[in-house]
Amino acid sequence: MAGLSERVRALVRSDVASLEPYDPNFTPCKINLSANENTYGMPEAVRSAIDAAIVRTQTNRYPDPMSNDLRDKIAAWHGVRRENVCVGNGGDELLFNFFLAFGGPEKTLLDCPPTFTVYDIYSRMLGTRLVRCPRDPQTFELDLPAMLEAAPTADMVIVTSPNNPTGNVIARADVARLCEACPGIVMIDEAYTEFSDEGVSCEELLGTYDNLVILHTFSKAYCLAGVRVGYVLAAPDVIDVLGAVRQPYTADVFAQAAAEVVADHRHEFDATIQQIRQERERLAAGLAAIDGVQVWPSQGNFLLVRMPEAGVVRARLRDERSILVRDFSAAPGLEGCLRITVGTPTENDELIDAIATIVKEVA
Ligand SMILES: *Cc1c(COP(=O)(O)O)cnc(C)c1O
Repeated sequence: MAGLSERVRALVRSDVASLEPYDPNFTPCKINLSANENTYGMPEAVRSAIDAAIVRTQTNRYPDPMSNDLRDKIAAWHGVRRENVCVGNGGDELLFNFFLAFGGPEKTLLDCPPTFTVYDIYSRMLGTRLVRCPRDPQTFELDLPAMLEAAPTADMVIVTSPNNPTGNVIARADVARLCEACPGIVMIDEAYTEFSDEGVSCEELLGTYDNLVILHTFSKAYCLAGVRVGYVLAAPDVIDVLGAVRQPYTADVFAQAAAEVVADHRHEFDATIQQIRQERERLAAGLAAIDGVQVWPSQGNFLLVRMPEAGVVRARLRDERSILVRDFSAAPGLEGCLRITVGTPTENDELIDAIATIVKEVA
């Protein structure tokens, strides 16, 4: 932390003094394509049902500490039992609890950058040792041989699939090989799984591997980023440990009510998810047609793109067009890269037009 006062620097744990806070670099803009939210918004009928459910909540009583009604709905959805589900205040909290339970000074995490930087932050917060198996610098595919070599001495492995910000997925057979090679816990972060092709999610391996942990969230496809609800699917003894380190009332009554409604109405999101998948391909083609712009294939609701002067392009998109995208150009391995959330057709058209104009001008 740059600018930490002497007084506080002397007081905090050394792990913490070296941390940089997670900064999504948010500026209010007309078109926000920076945080991989579902920009189509909550279907109206679902929103009405949420509103009605919230009216019925009692705020003077503590919420159900384990969110059991919501757990039951998630369990039925995924064909598992309540004992296989832990609900959290967003996927981020569950990731933190995962490190709290399984990380720490004598533990090792196998991480595959470039990926979601939250893993790096949490592992350092808890003093976890990091072993990195970097992705291919051109394609961002995983280096599976290196991972299988490192897995036997890892206590935790995290693979993001689809990977944020590169869009790659891991094959189910490779998840199986990792679970077999690693005596520790293998987490597959499937925050964007709803946008990927059929057969990508490795949920069906849960019955076979008791060291497999899968993370899902209501934040992306299901329009609840503002409410904060995520969940983990895992073996009952893993869920017990996550339950033990968890803050007791982490999912409040509003969040539980909203997520229960969304779980009941999840199929009402199917059409939009399909449209986002189609728009992703249209946006990718539109951007790739611009001279100097490289686009990677993606199974998420976002695209990683590389272009000259990416930082300047990002600033001009924000300042001249009021379009916000995420700048990764300073991240190792992502030089010249921006991450763009797939928006509505109008948003995508405006973005393509703006990038085509700006890239031509800065080239
Ligand atoms: C967005 C995201 C999450 C979780 O987000 P929450 O809003 O905290 O549920 C987890 N992993 C990845 C890779 C993400 O991009």
